[in-house]
Formats: sequence, C-alpha cells, structure tokens
Amino acid sequence: MAAAVSRRPLVSGNWKMHHDHIEALHTVRDLGLRIKPGDVSSLDVTVHPPFTDLRTVQSLIDGERLPLGLGAQHCYYEDRGAFTGEVSPQMLARLGVAYVLVGHSERRQIFDMTDEAVALTLRAVLRHEMTPILCVGETEELRDAGATSSHLEAQVRTALTGLAKEQVGAMVLAYEPIWAIGTGRAATVDDAQDACAFIRSVVAEMAGEPAARALRIQYGGSVKGANAGELVDAPDVDGLLVGGASLDAAGFVDIIRAVSDCYRSSAA
Ligand code: PEP
Repeated sequence: MAAAVSRRPLVSGNWKMHHDHIEALHTVRDLGLRIKPGDVSSLDVTVHPPFTDLRTVQSLIDGERLPLGLGAQHCYYEDRGAFTGEVSPQMLARLGVAYVLVGHSERRQIFDMTDEAVALTLRAVLRHEMTPILCVGETEELRDAGATSSHLEAQVRTALTGLAKEQVGAMVLAYEPIWAIGTGRAATVDDAQDACAFIRSVVAEMAGEPAARALRIQYGGSVKGANAGELVDAPDVDGLLVGGASLDAAGFVDIIRAVSDCYRSSAA
C-alpha cells in the first residue's frame, strides 16, 4: 500500500532530554556503523538531540558524511532578544539544523505552549528555511469523548492558516496521540491511518489537493521495530516519530529497516 503515492518516508528520532554530548557521540557513531546504504535509499532519517549536543552531532554527521538529517526538538519564535533560556531558530539554522519539532505535546502540556505560540514558531522555522515537523494529537479524555477529529482540525487550522500552499506541501506533520506517547500502547494501524487521512483532508481543504498530497505525515507514539512496518504500510502514514526506541542505535536501526523493507517490497 505504501508505494501507491510517492512520498518519501521520514523516520525521526526524538531523544527528548536524554543523552549528553558524549553519549550522543557514541550513539551517532554507532548509528553510522549500523546503517547500510540500502537502509536509507528509500527514506530519510533525522535525529533530534538536546540543544547541548547539536554541535557535536552536526560535526559527526558532516565529518563522516552520515546519512542523517540534523533535527532540533523546539525553538523560540524570535531571532534574538531578552528571552533568557531560549534558543532561536536563527541559532539552529547556523548550526546546520534542517528539521525542527514544533508543538510537541510535551512542550504543549508541560511548558504551556499555546496553539498561537505553535503557529508563530512554525513561521519562524520556515523563515530560516528549516523544515518544521508540526506535532498534533489528542489526549485520552478527548478521544474517549469522541473529539479526536475536532481537536486535530483545530490544531492543524490554527497552525497552518495563512501559510503558502508550497510551504504546507514541503513541511511535515506528526500525528502523535498523547495517550500513546511513552506508554507502550501504540495506536492501531487503523486508528493511525484514519487520523492521518483526516489530517490530510483538512490540509486539502486549506491548501489544496497538491499540497495535501505532497505533505508527509508521520505517526508517533510507542513505535518500535515490531510495529514500525505495519504502521508505515498504511497509505497516509509517511514515516514515524520515535521517542524511547530511538535512544539506542540498534533499536532505531530496526525501525529504519522495517520502514525501508516495507517501501522496498511495495515498490517491487
Ligand atoms: C515522542 O516523543 O514523540 C514519542 C513518540 O515517544 P515514544 O516513541 O517514546 O512514545
């Protein structure tokens, strides 16, 4: 099923607040040794370490020409100023960061990031020519109340309103049901597919069919090697955002291979 459309899948590892720069060095070196050219011929891979690791990871990726994109987990939306403790999109771009997670549920829930701040951050990331990975997803309470679709639609509309169609088509969205993050309880393939297809239909209404067809939508929430292949086999799931299982190079490569095998077999 995955080959019916020609979106190149994206597998992203969100390390959250794990791995200092020494551990990052070992993990990325290990990834570099394990990933074979065939594993990444049909997909893109990004790693999103903590801010303090970015320079180390960027030097390793560039120096050893590793097939990895450098990602960040968050940024503020101003370029500079009196914002103690924040990191700006301009600083990330200067470090060679190519992808930035925007509005991860942990930013929204623990650090009170509002939908408006998410929209501003998305624009700031685009202004610096990085690719945003916009995270959306419902809580268990919203899901039980039957409000998943209305919640996803509101999050997508607030974030994307006013963006050019080309900008929307080139970005990445991640559907991450909050009840599935870090719980070991991944969404079923049908639930992931339904939510991603629904998100794509909202994007089509807002930015037109070509942008919606081009946009990559990841699924995130308790992904591991054992469920990665079946999740990306769903037609509207164009990759995976992986937290816990991306911390260890061997586990992350299992996921990359499962996605790669799925795309290779559906292309055959
Ligand atoms: C995440 O942090 O975005 C995530 C999906 O975490 P986990 O894979 O650990 O559920």
